[in-house]
Formats: sequence, C-alpha cells, structure tokens
Amino acid sequence: MSNVEATLMGRRLLILGPPGAGKGTQATVLCRAIGIPHISTGEMLRDHVARETALGRRAREIMESGDLVPDEIVIGMVEERIGQPDAACGFLLDGFPRTRAQAEALDEVLGDEGLDAVIVVEVAEDELVERILKRGRSDDTEEAVRNRLTVYHSQTAPLIEFYLGRGLVRSVDGVGAIEEVLARIVGVLGA
Ligand code: ADP
Repeated sequence: MSNVEATLMGRRLLILGPPGAGKGTQATVLCRAIGIPHISTGEMLRDHVARETALGRRAREIMESGDLVPDEIVIGMVEERIGQPDAACGFLLDGFPRTRAQAEALDEVLGDEGLDAVIVVEVAEDELVERILKRGRSDDTEEAVRNRLTVYHSQTAPLIEFYLGRGLVRSVDGVGAIEEVLARIVGVLGA
C-alpha cells in the first residue's frame, strides 16, 4: 500500500453503502492516505445543526427521524464544496448522492470528466442494525435506524445500478477490521 497517494491522487471517488456499513470510517482513513478531501454530507449537516444555522434548524428534525433532507439543500452544499480549490486535486464523496435527482445534479456539476470510481461497501442487514445501535449518535434510535435502512433501499441502493451501467462500481466486503477493509478498497481501486 506504499504508493497509494501517488496512484490515487486526483481521483474523483464516491463511497456508497447502507447506513452502518462503515463508509464514514473508511472514507476518513482513505482520504488521509491519499491526501484528498473527504466530502461527507452527513458531517456537513451535523455541523450546521451544531452551529444552529438556518439550514441546521431546517435539517435537524428530518435527520433525527431518519428521513432525507431535501435534495436542493444537499445539492447546493456539495456544489459549493466541490468548487473549492482543494477539491481540484480529487475528492471522496460520502453520503452523497443519495437519490437519483442528486446523482443527476452531480453529473451536471462534474461535467464531462465525471467520477472515476464508485466504491460499494457491502454488509449484511442484521449486522448493520447492531453496529449502528452501538454507535449511539442522536439520530441512531432504533426507529430512525430502521427508517434510514428503508430509505436506503428505496432511494439510494438503485444508484448502484445507475453506476454499474457506467462500469464505475467496485464492490468490497465491509466486514472485518478497519485496515482489512481499507486494503480491499485500495485493491479494487487498483493501487
Ligand atoms: P450514515 O452514514 O449513517 O448513512 P450520514 O452521516 O451519511 O449517515 O447521514 C446522516 C443523515 O443526514 C441522513 O440520515 C440524512 O437525514 C442526512 N443526509 C446526509 N446526506 C444526505 C443526502 N445526500 N441527502 C439527504 N439527506 C442526507
């Protein structure tokens, strides 16, 4: 894994998978290894909630129920973030796009160059609920977690097909130690 930075610098990556699959953890370590920004809409939204911005006040209850915040809110946030200078050297999107409309908006933002790869992290359903309930975030009540899984299956999972059609999907088994899963991701990215 010595040349990860040199090989993967400049890539425009997306990490996709159900809530609890460990996307956020993997995204953090991978971005640190490559030296590209980690663009997490969940983190950006939690930051707005913590700072009690107008956007945060709008998003808080929606997030606590496990529903998706409106597309236009997250699309605007991501568009602004991708336009910042550090994102010109590649980035990893985590938690976005989550709907077909968001995926289409991302296409518009990225233009002809598009994404380089979509990492899909796979974890069995019963393991997911167990992992999330252990984490204990404020939107991690059992009801909200079940709702997030339902929303994932109906709105987000179909995006895998969308990106499969473009030959971008690289699937990895998300079960195992953090370094093991990371090594699988690095492997499927060809580094
Ligand atoms: P997880 O990793 O558990 O899936 P995230 O941190 O990605 O959770 O997101 C937490 C919550 O933030 C989501 O349940 C949703 O309410 C909101 N959210 C994050 N990203 C998006 C998005 N792209 N579109 C709509 N809502 C989003």
